[in-house]
Amino acid sequence: MPAPLRALRAGASAALSTTLGALLPCPACGARRAGRMGLCTRCRRRACRPQRRGEALWLGPYAGPLGRAVRALKYRGATRLAGWLGERLAREVADAGWRPSVVCAVPLHPSRRRRRGYDQAWLLASGTAAALGVPCRPLLERRRATPSQASLSRAARLRNVAGAFRSDPVPGARVLLVDDVLTTGATAAACREALLEAGASLVRVAVVARSERSPAASPAATPPHVPLRGRPAGRS
Ligand SMILES: [Zn+2]
Repeated sequence: MPAPLRALRAGASAALSTTLGALLPCPACGARRAGRMGLCTRCRRRACRPQRRGEALWLGPYAGPLGRAVRALKYRGATRLAGWLGERLAREVADAGWRPSVVCAVPLHPSRRRRRGYDQAWLLASGTAAALGVPCRPLLERRRATPSQASLSRAARLRNVAGAFRSDPVPGARVLLVDDVLTTGATAAACREALLEAGASLVRVAVVARSERSPAASPAATPPHVPLRGRPAGRS
């Protein structure tokens, strides 16, 4: 098939999937239609309660509509949500006065990415970078697969991810690291360390949802090298 025709067909099928997806139930409430943003208007209004602590910000708590949106993005292929969530993250980053020179994502291990078919954090990072008008680059690489963090204590999480990441050289870069969920901050801390070792001058973290499930999620229990402390700077 000639290239222009292929492009036309790809464009048409993307438009069709957006239109059909808008008719599906909202993944956060199941009660209304998802709409073109991938989440109904009511859930979009209720999902975000942005918070900022030190060098990290997040859109709201994992419990509730935002967590359901993240699970739909991560496990049920609702990739359309990444655009809206990325734009919301970009708005918070701009409001915080942060001026990253490059955006990157916490990477999935390639084997997990192959199984899922996409990397949700990369989609979020791309959406954020596009809205900020800065490049999104795959700077980080997972050197080894790490067992799921979900059932681990904070100390075990830190051991689990220590040295698990490697970064391309980024001399002097102001990096914005994007991920879907922040629990203890152990993964973000390991990524941040790799980026600083690779020459970044500053690493800030923007995450969709903060999970409070783990007792280690309280700011006092956050690893000292993850800049999550300080006063909440959220707006209601
Ligand atoms: Zn909804």
